Amino acid sequence: MSEVILTLNSGSSSLKFAVFESGTSKNTASITGKITEIGRAPQFSARGSDGDMLGKGELSNLNATASHEDIIALLLTWLPQYLGNHRLIAIGHRVVHGGSFFSKPTLVTNEVLEKLETLIPLAPLHQPHNLAAIRAVTKWHSDVPQIACFDTAFHRTQDRLASLFALPRSLSNEGIVRYGFHGLSYEYIASALPQHIGAAAEGRVIVAHLGNGASMCAMSNRKSVATSMGFTALDGLMMGQRCGSLDPGVVLYLMQSKGMSTDQIEDLLYRQSGLLGVSGISNDMQVLQDSNDPHAREAIDLYCFRAANVLAGLVTAIGGLDALVFTAGIGENSAPVRKLICDRLVWMGVHLDDEANDIGAIKISSDQSSVSVLTLPTDEESVVAKACRGLVASNPINSQK
Ligand code: ADP
Repeated sequence: MSEVILTLNSGSSSLKFAVFESGTSKNTASITGKITEIGRAPQFSARGSDGDMLGKGELSNLNATASHEDIIALLLTWLPQYLGNHRLIAIGHRVVHGGSFFSKPTLVTNEVLEKLETLIPLAPLHQPHNLAAIRAVTKWHSDVPQIACFDTAFHRTQDRLASLFALPRSLSNEGIVRYGFHGLSYEYIASALPQHIGAAAEGRVIVAHLGNGASMCAMSNRKSVATSMGFTALDGLMMGQRCGSLDPGVVLYLMQSKGMSTDQIEDLLYRQSGLLGVSGISNDMQVLQDSNDPHAREAIDLYCFRAANVLAGLVTAIGGLDALVFTAGIGENSAPVRKLICDRLVWMGVHLDDEANDIGAIKISSDQSSVSVLTLPTDEESVVAKACRGLVASNPINSQK
């Protein structure tokens, strides 16, 4: 009987899942799927590795009140028909915040779960849903090991200076430091890079993960040296709905002069800002690109202006730039955004091949560019699956359960 690993990435309005066969050397999913629009009108879709649709809309009998737990229950009753006699040996979860507790994939126990719960205020948009998925799975598969893989872990190679705020030492000692996120995506790109740029992968590289959430990571020797997100996933780049870096004086002003509550400010900074706030139209880059509204254009321009500025700061942390990689929904798919960002980086030797950029080729820099510019699809699920495989293999008690 062959063995499989299930990966879950549970967000506020979506649940992505993938199934990986455990015994093969290839680390590609045999089933991938997602449930979107949770809390509104849940939509389900799943595909096999050949791209064949395995299911679509079947969970749409769920309504807006369906919780993450309901959704996971339905997924876990739908899945066995495609697993045949494959045995589920581990379930891996993407967990956004591991704080200073966890720097590598970790077997979930009650104790681990309790520690992760204390980090909810640091990632209110993601952590509660990540943990809800773990709890929901426990009800169905209490005998299958669950493994938490952290978005913060990849950045634990950073020097102390890169992680410090200029706050009193006592607060840094308490753990109010920069953690960084999107680590699973960066880990995947770091592993894929040598096959595209050879030895240059070990050089000075910036990866721009531009999805709904967005950050950049400066790497040297494929290890994180500095990153744009900080204590929470609010810092750094402008995002779909999040403001990114903001003068903290603005927060004080909103409290003191406008009388806003912490809940109102949290909603403003996490859900009403970014592309959505500046455009007044949408958090979706594709919608803004298709719009003629000048506010949509300004939102895109600000997004790219700020991205180029953040990137220039990160280059200092690694002393120059050999390669720039765009990934995630916007990074992989938006030629106009890549162009607007790169046009601001000509002074550092970045030159795009416009034709290659327009068709979304892997290498999009021109021959005259001293920096290799690439678009690479990310695959956070495969990083989670690989970690599960490693942990189960090193822990025979769990694999025999
Ligand atoms: P998440 O962080 O939720 O995983 P994704 O990585 O899927 O997000 O990125 C979502 C973003 O990617 C959205 O803003 C979407 O508009 C954008 N996007 C996807 N395809 C395109 C495209 N062809 N052109 C421009 N933007 C795109």
